[in-house]
Amino acid sequence: MKNLFKLYNVFILLLVLLFVGLNYIYKKEEINFNKIKLQKLTNNAKKINQYFSLNKAFIFSLRDILTNNLQINELSHPSYNEINEKEDTYHILCVLDNIESSLNGIGNIQEIDLDTVHEIHSVLYLKPLFKTILNSNHDIKWVYYTSAKNFIYIAPSKEVWKKEFLSNIYKKEFWIDTIPSNNLGKELILTKLYKDPAGKGYLTTLSLPVMNADKFMGTLSIDIGVETLNKMLNNDILRASTYLVNENNLIIASNNFFGIDDVLSPNANTIELSIFDDKLKLIYVENKKEKIVSIIKNSIAQVLLLIFILFIIYILCYLLILNKKVKKLANRDSLTSLLNRRAMRIESKKLLNIANRYNQDTSLLLLDIDLFKNVNDTYGHNLGDVTIKEVARVLSKNARESDLVSRYGGEEFLIMLSNSNINSAYTLAERIRKEISELKIGDTNLKITISIGCTEYKRDEKLDSFINRVDLLLYKAKDQGRNQTIKG
Ligand code: GH3
Ligand code: MG
Ligand code: MG
Repeated sequence: MKNLFKLYNVFILLLVLLFVGLNYIYKKEEINFNKIKLQKLTNNAKKINQYFSLNKAFIFSLRDILTNNLQINELSHPSYNEINEKEDTYHILCVLDNIESSLNGIGNIQEIDLDTVHEIHSVLYLKPLFKTILNSNHDIKWVYYTSAKNFIYIAPSKEVWKKEFLSNIYKKEFWIDTIPSNNLGKELILTKLYKDPAGKGYLTTLSLPVMNADKFMGTLSIDIGVETLNKMLNNDILRASTYLVNENNLIIASNNFFGIDDVLSPNANTIELSIFDDKLKLIYVENKKEKIVSIIKNSIAQVLLLIFILFIIYILCYLLILNKKVKKLANRDSLTSLLNRRAMRIESKKLLNIANRYNQDTSLLLLDIDLFKNVNDTYGHNLGDVTIKEVARVLSKNARESDLVSRYGGEEFLIMLSNSNINSAYTLAERIRKEISELKIGDTNLKITISIGCTEYKRDEKLDSFINRVDLLLYKAKDQGRNQTIKG
C-alpha cells in the first residue's frame, strides 16, 4: 500500500480521471446539444408552420369571398368597363393603392357567356385581399385566380397578350394537381419548387380549387418565393443542414445548397418533424464534424477547470510525496534505510516511556561487525558498503514491527526490542549472529562475524545509561575474542 503512493501511480490515476472526466463532460454537452437542437428544430418548425398557416388562411378567405360573390345575382364591378380587346384575348387592368392587378382572358369579349361575365365581376372583387396578401410578405410573388373559363386574374399586374402563354398556364402543375379530377378531396395543394416563367425566381405554389355548388370554377393560388423559407431554416448554432421537403420528399427549401428536383428521404441520421397538416416535413441532417466542434467549443471552460483541478491534485500529491521523502531522509540512514542515530534516540525514548508506563520488558542489542576495517582494506570500500547493507537486511528481517532497528555508527547497529526480556533478546541475538556468519557477500568468499552486547531495561533508567551498559557488554564481547553475544 505504501508503494502504491508514488508519483507515477498518481499520474496514471489522474490520467484515468482526466479521461473519465472528459468523457463525462462530452456526454453531458452532447445531451445539452441534442436538447438545444430539438428546441431549435421545433421553433423552426413552428415558424414555418405559422408562415404556411397564414397563407392557408389567406387562400381560404379568398375562396370564401369568391364563392360568396358567385352567389350574388347581378354583381357588377366598375373595372369591368375598362375592358380591352386585342385579336383573340381580352384584358382588364385594375389599380388599387399602387398595386395593379390584371385580368387576361382567351377569346372574344362579345362571345363570352353570361356566367363567365358574372364570374369575372365576382373575381374582380378579390382585389383588396390580393393587395393585403402581397403586402403581408415580400416573398409572396403572385396571387391569382385561374378560371376554368380560360381567364386568369393576377396581382401584381401581368398583362399577357399572347394566347399561347395563357393556354400554357393550364398545363402547369399548380393547375393540373389542383383540378378535381386529380384532387378528389378538393384539398389545398402545395406544388414542388419550380422556376417562375415571369422571372421572379424559384417558387412553390399553394393552390386551392374553387367550387360553386359542386361545379368546379377554377383555382386560387399564392406563389411563395423560396428565399424567406431558406432563411427560416438557418440555425447557425447547430451548423447543420435543415431541409423543408414536400409529401414526395422533394426539397422545397434549405439552408444548404440543393437542386430543384433533389429528393431527400429521412433516414437514421436525420430528424424529421411533420408540419402543415403533414404536407411538409422539416428534415435535419446532422453534420458529425460540426457537431463535435460545437460540443468541444461549449466544453472548453469545463475541460480547463477539470485540468486545473487535476493539476492542483497532482501538485498536492507531489508535495505530499516530497514531504515524505524529506522526512525519510531526515530519519533514515541513506545506505541501509534503517533509523539513523538521531531518530533512534527520539523513538527509543518514546518506547521506554511506554515500557515504564505499562511495565513492559524492553531489551537492547548493540551489534558491531568484527574487524570490518580488514574488509574495507581487502575487498574495497564498495564491498564494505554491500556488507553493511546485507547485515542491515538480516537485522530488519529478524526484528518485529514494534522493534526499533538503527544504524548507530559506521558498522555498529542498535536494536531496541519491545516486550522482550533478556533471554528472548539473547536468543534473537544468537540467531542473528549465526545468520550473519553464514552470509554470502557479493561474489566473494568473504565471511564476516559480529559481536553483540545484550541487556535488559531497568525501570526508570535513562536511555544513556541503558546504552552505556550494552556498549560495555559489546566491548566485553570484542575483548573476549569477538563473534559472540555477551548478556548482562
Ligand atoms: P573491531 O572488530 O574491533 O570492531 O574492528 P573494526 O575494524 O571493525 O573496527 P574499527 O572501528 O577500527 O573500524 C571500523 C571501520 O568501519 C572503519 C571504517 O572505515 C569502516 N566504516 C565505517 N562506516 C563505513 C561505511 O559506511 N562503509 C564502509 N565501507 N566502511 C565503513
Ligand atoms: Mg567493528
Ligand atoms: Mg565499530
